[in-house]
Amino acid sequence: MHIHYTFSLEDAQQHLININVQFKNLNKGRVDMILPAWRPGRYERANYAENIKDFKAESRARKLKFKKTERNTWTIDNCPEGEVNVSYKYFANTINAGSSYIDQDQLYVNPVNCCMHVAGEMSSKVTAELKVPAKYKSSGMLKVTKQKMKAKDLDDWYDSPFVSSASLIQHRFKSNGINFEIAVQGDVPYVKEQIESDFRKFIDVQMKAFKDCPVNRYTFLVQATPHRHYHGVEHEWGTTITLGPSRSLLNGSVYEDLLAVCSHELYHTWNVKYMRPKEMWPYDFTKENYHRAGYIIEGVTTYQGDLKLWQAGVMTDETFLKELKTHLDRHVANYGRMNLSVRESSFDTWIDGYGKSIPDRKVSIYTEGALISMLFDIAIMNKTRAKKSLDTVMTSLYDHCKEKGRGYAESDYLSRIYDIIPAEGKRIFKSYADKAVGYEREVYRALRSAGVKVKRIPIDKLASHFGIRTDSNSQPKIIGVHPQSEANKKGIRVGMQIIGLDGLAVEGDAEDLITRNELWLMAKEGKKLRPFDLKASKEMLYVQHELEFDTKKNALWRKWKKGVF
Ligand SMILES: [Zn+2]
Repeated sequence: MHIHYTFSLEDAQQHLININVQFKNLNKGRVDMILPAWRPGRYERANYAENIKDFKAESRARKLKFKKTERNTWTIDNCPEGEVNVSYKYFANTINAGSSYIDQDQLYVNPVNCCMHVAGEMSSKVTAELKVPAKYKSSGMLKVTKQKMKAKDLDDWYDSPFVSSASLIQHRFKSNGINFEIAVQGDVPYVKEQIESDFRKFIDVQMKAFKDCPVNRYTFLVQATPHRHYHGVEHEWGTTITLGPSRSLLNGSVYEDLLAVCSHELYHTWNVKYMRPKEMWPYDFTKENYHRAGYIIEGVTTYQGDLKLWQAGVMTDETFLKELKTHLDRHVANYGRMNLSVRESSFDTWIDGYGKSIPDRKVSIYTEGALISMLFDIAIMNKTRAKKSLDTVMTSLYDHCKEKGRGYAESDYLSRIYDIIPAEGKRIFKSYADKAVGYEREVYRALRSAGVKVKRIPIDKLASHFGIRTDSNSQPKIIGVHPQSEANKKGIRVGMQIIGLDGLAVEGDAEDLITRNELWLMAKEGKKLRPFDLKASKEMLYVQHELEFDTKKNALWRKWKKGVF
């Protein structure tokens, strides 16, 4: 079958994309037109159908009857043979790396959100065209020639977002035989020299680690938002990134974020786009693709994304340690680590997604996956006197997938670690990746062996003495209650707001109001006010970390930084 999508802008001011779909060579009879139930990169159910309106179907200028038969299925019972045209409007008013957006200035499409196909026909050939003003330039994962694109099948098409606008900045360069493009949409002061030289450095290191690359072109498609934002999604032929604030894109921490997200997403070209857990090979867009390998696909990528920047010299020692500190702090702050292992949490992204779960229910595949990847990496380097590293494992897994097929079993990854560190590898997997447990002490040991000094320090009085973590509002909301705290036993809960401390109203000065080892706290939950009397704990409850290099900088530290490929 052949599908041709046409995108037009008549209702752009209403955030509506007009989409026309031409299905050629249809068989006679019942036809189900469907939208995907999720998108790769976000392993949870989506509800794209809620954005569809004004669905129509016709064949040879004759209207066809249809009915909805599932939340994302439009069924034509008596479809004639040959060609059918379907049209609808898609409401596109969200900018993130996996969404679609349209207004007077741009058309931004993630086809997986809004492009219908015929159920069971994933091998359909796809062409597409954009009916946009002549001054619009377009960039995306697929080559755009005269506002036309071609994909080899629906998998390819669903993996190929694009942007079209008059203000799109396109910068192209070649590195390691790959044609790279950095395309930026938004209000940015674009300095190509700085950005290209930093990008070249981390591209070189990733190429050195894997030896070759499965793609010959790659687009970094950046939506620079006016507000603070950080999100990236990996694709076979590139990545889509939403990042802001746009005016600071090339300065300070936002530029650090740009490099971090781009390095992370580039690493996905190998780890998840080319080789991926066999449960997701090929993707089944109709339902959940359960697997337990989040600590490999996102964990290794999170760890390696930063590591490769550090090894490339575009991330400082301080920033690299700051990223590790963030993972460690998050690990000890989340008592979900005592409830669900990272493997089970990986399965459960399909259940309660990426937003807030109920308190302390599960862990992040990014945070825990990164820490476990670091444990494997340091253990391998320690055991082999830095002759091998986690890169050895990932490169070998990549070679295996090139030879045997792109879907791998979890055991294909683990057995490559066990080949190098049998006992240690199994211990790390069984005790930390497959168990609900706090393993911060193991991380401290590993870091110390690699020349990093680790200190546990208090966060603030409320968190460390009374076991109550809060956000930074002037009347702080409670975001965590330590299970061993008196606060927990007395009924202080996540979601409550602290409005009074020791007889005074809290107005952005909570810490200053705590002067004794006893605390009177007034919490607001909905319309209810609840007073609590609390005693400070003798032991430090919530903690954070301070990481510092050992001044001697041991041999492993130097090898770690240089890279063991
Ligand atoms: Zn990722």
